[in-house]
Amino acid sequence: MLKLKPNCEFCDKDLPPESEEACICTYECTFCTECVASLLHNVCPNCGGGFVPRPIRPKKERRAGVSLTNHPASTKRVNTHYSRKEITEFCGAVKDIAPEKR
Ligand SMILES: [Zn+2]
Ligand SMILES: [Zn+2]
Repeated sequence: MLKLKPNCEFCDKDLPPESEEACICTYECTFCTECVASLLHNVCPNCGGGFVPRPIRPKKERRAGVSLTNHPASTKRVNTHYSRKEITEFCGAVKDIAPEKR
């Protein structure tokens, strides 16, 4: 199940579970759309994979046992340990390779 992390790992912007600005990689590294577009260029700085928009878990229990109330979002903030310089270099080297070819 997705952890629905609360913030962008780079700029620390809040990304609540209903946010339409959250992007995730397959490891659930989580960044905002702004960082993915302008800094990361669709390259996860932690794993090198591409991003997709994070789906939004329904607030209301429309099916028994499944909703944000049953499975709340994580409150543990995560910040990447890579510097802007390291990220720029890494993402710059990978961005021109399509995600399916990385
Ligand atoms: Zn960000
Ligand atoms: Zn990743």
